Amino acid sequence: MADVSLRNIKKSYGKVEVLHGISLDVKDGEFVVFVGPSGCGKSTALRIIAGLEEITAGELHIGGKLVNQVPPAERGIAMVFQSYALYPHMSVYKNMAFGLKFAKTDKAEADKRVRKAAEILQLTPYLERKPRDLSGGQRQRVAIGRAIVREPAVFLFDEPLSNLDAALRINTRIEIAKLHRHLNATTIYVTHDQVEAMTLATKIVVMNQGRVEQVGAPLELYHHPQNQFVAGFIGSPKMNFVKGKVTAIDGMGMSVDFGEAKPMAIPFAGGGAKPGDSVTLGIRPEHLGEGTRHAMVLTGTVDAVEHLGEASYVHVRRDDGTMLTARSPGDSRAEIGSRIPVSTDVDHLHLFDAEGKAFPRHSKADAA
Ligand code: ADP
Ligand code: MG
Repeated sequence: MADVSLRNIKKSYGKVEVLHGISLDVKDGEFVVFVGPSGCGKSTALRIIAGLEEITAGELHIGGKLVNQVPPAERGIAMVFQSYALYPHMSVYKNMAFGLKFAKTDKAEADKRVRKAAEILQLTPYLERKPRDLSGGQRQRVAIGRAIVREPAVFLFDEPLSNLDAALRINTRIEIAKLHRHLNATTIYVTHDQVEAMTLATKIVVMNQGRVEQVGAPLELYHHPQNQFVAGFIGSPKMNFVKGKVTAIDGMGMSVDFGEAKPMAIPFAGGGAKPGDSVTLGIRPEHLGEGTRHAMVLTGTVDAVEHLGEASYVHVRRDDGTMLTARSPGDSRAEIGSRIPVSTDVDHLHLFDAEGKAFPRHSKADAA
């Protein structure tokens, strides 16, 4: 059993509180990713779980046991950092075995574990090499191997891929996902990269300024962000935001003035909105296309076009200066400087109130 549970965890450095009460349940075998912008408190939360930082207030349980005062070595965890800090004078084998020697593990048992980890991580041919004779990806795998041999109940990763180049990052990401399927150990992984979070996590925890904004499965966060922060953070390119004012509300939804020729009818109600309220519409680039094919049309001037091959991102500047990104087919003919309409299906819209809270959809014809 290696559940991890955080109950109202607070952390202050001196007078500055950086975690404002984090509560979270990580179930045995889950792969949980903490994601959020730099400085939001992800590493602090992870280091608290590892026992490398003292808890200011709240309770931390690992495997059902209160561990607030338990030293790191007795928590059954192993941590992999961004800077993998291998011992340069030791072979790969010795780097991986080192922690076991320290923990007084039997020599034959240590050898078995190191060879098994090397097998899993495809490091067997490199066991006698020194770290300097390995690629960046191989070094990071050694660092992961060093964690595996300890057979921890909980793996903690802090941005382990940040020092790798783009191609290697994708490969190693896939390796880590496989590793989790293979070992099935509870894993908590910190990253600022939402793509990493989406691809690795069974459960994502979106953090912002020392607070949890939303917890959910990757697609749940993508389809049903509870607020504008999560909506803008999950998804690439980012969700488009368009400001408007509510002009009327009836049983079917609301009319909103978005600065186009006439107000638009959108299928949101409830949420306590009234005429005159400021709202923000959210449209993902993949739901916004050139032309007037869909019910909701916005206009602007083409500012830039990015041809990626399989798709083109057309960046459109509206008259009030706000930018929209539309995902067009790879052969888009959009011309910079031309005035074009872009449109979206109202079923794909998100709507947020002035505080950024998501409105419930009106009908159950939910776009999910
Ligand atoms: P993240 O990992 O999400 O980028 P961190 O957890 O490292 O963020 O930091 C969260 C906040 O705590 C930041 O504002 C950071 O400056 C502050 N912080 C982190 N460590 C210390 C420390 N040892 N002393 C004072 N402030 C710290
Ligand atoms: Mg960090």
